[in-house]
Amino acid sequence: MDYDVVIGLEVHAQLLTKSKIFCGCSTAFGAPPNTQVCPVCMGMPGVLPVLNKKAVELAVRTALATRCRIAEMSRFARKNYFYPDLPKGYQISQFEQPIATGGYIEIETGEEKSIKRIGITRIHMEEDAGKLFHGMEGASADHSYVDLNRSGVPLLEIVSEPDMTAPEEAGAYLRSLRAILQYLDVCDGSMEEGSFRCDANISLKPAGHKTLGTRVELKNMNSFRHVQNALAFEIERQQQLLADRKAIVQETRLWDAGRGITASMRSKEEAHDYRYFPEPDLPPVAVSAGWIESIRADLPELPQARRSRFARDYRLPAYDAEVLTGSRQLADYFEACVTCYPQPKKVSNWIMGELL
Ligand code: ADP
Ligand code: MG
Ligand code: ZN
Repeated sequence: MDYDVVIGLEVHAQLLTKSKIFCGCSTAFGAPPNTQVCPVCMGMPGVLPVLNKKAVELAVRTALATRCRIAEMSRFARKNYFYPDLPKGYQISQFEQPIATGGYIEIETGEEKSIKRIGITRIHMEEDAGKLFHGMEGASADHSYVDLNRSGVPLLEIVSEPDMTAPEEAGAYLRSLRAILQYLDVCDGSMEEGSFRCDANISLKPAGHKTLGTRVELKNMNSFRHVQNALAFEIERQQQLLADRKAIVQETRLWDAGRGITASMRSKEEAHDYRYFPEPDLPPVAVSAGWIESIRADLPELPQARRSRFARDYRLPAYDAEVLTGSRQLADYFEACVTCYPQPKKVSNWIMGELL
């Protein structure tokens, strides 16, 4: 039997604010452990979180760039679970009333590079947890260490519709979304440092059927290549199970890059019950129409628009325009060069060849 592949992605993007989402501690990467902490982000009892306005602004910027509806009123909730990197015992996150819903981004797909819209279900704000180190060098192997510098760093969770039908489309979506976030100065987009993380949901269904199949959630991929490889492996695995008339189990699986396989981490029966409830220490987030309009007025030119402009105004081939606008820094650099030396194609050749 032929199967359709269905993929939906959840991206966690670390916001480029100077301070954390509910306290004034620095978000700078790479400081010695537990030096950027205070009672709020260490989860001491009795402390009160205060929302960082810049984090809301960056969420609104992202929502506008992805054509989402922005909620006049959104709320934070407590997502309760126990883990040693989460001293409060709950993560503050948006749940039933996220800041934005119902948008899309466009990707190029297939040989003829046709444009396809991938829906954005929702965008919400939340805080990051701390980081655990197991068997750290220079320390005893049977000890684990907690670094709370990352605790309270602001994140956006961006959830897509299950609109992708192949690993390549998932890759194109991630590249496109990352470029938008980088152009917006919302996120630095580093998958290696973990400031841009992706969980991938995938299922198969008989070709042409409407009803979606049982999904598996994949985690632990820290590059675009890993995401695509994990999805490709999972398609084979699920196809094999279906061919053998075995059931697909709804579960979370971890990508093992070394072995090139996914392995079960937890099944639905072990799934969490987070007991979400409204965060009593934070008032609802109200975003006024006036503020939205001033943020909109301040939006930079986005990758797609810049790519078309490069092709049109500098008479560059589509390929050149795509490479040059791949990052905002490179595009800025190209335009600065063309100002000094107004021969766009020569500059483009030099940048794409010698420079890159
Ligand atoms: P959870 O927190 O349980 O992972 P979310 O709503 O945060 O749920 O994310 C669900 C993700 O899974 C979305 O990106 C959605 O598009 C995708 N998804 C939902 N159902 C399916 C399915 N049957 N096959 C593939 N992807 C799916
Ligand atoms: Mg999720
Ligand atoms: Zn703090």
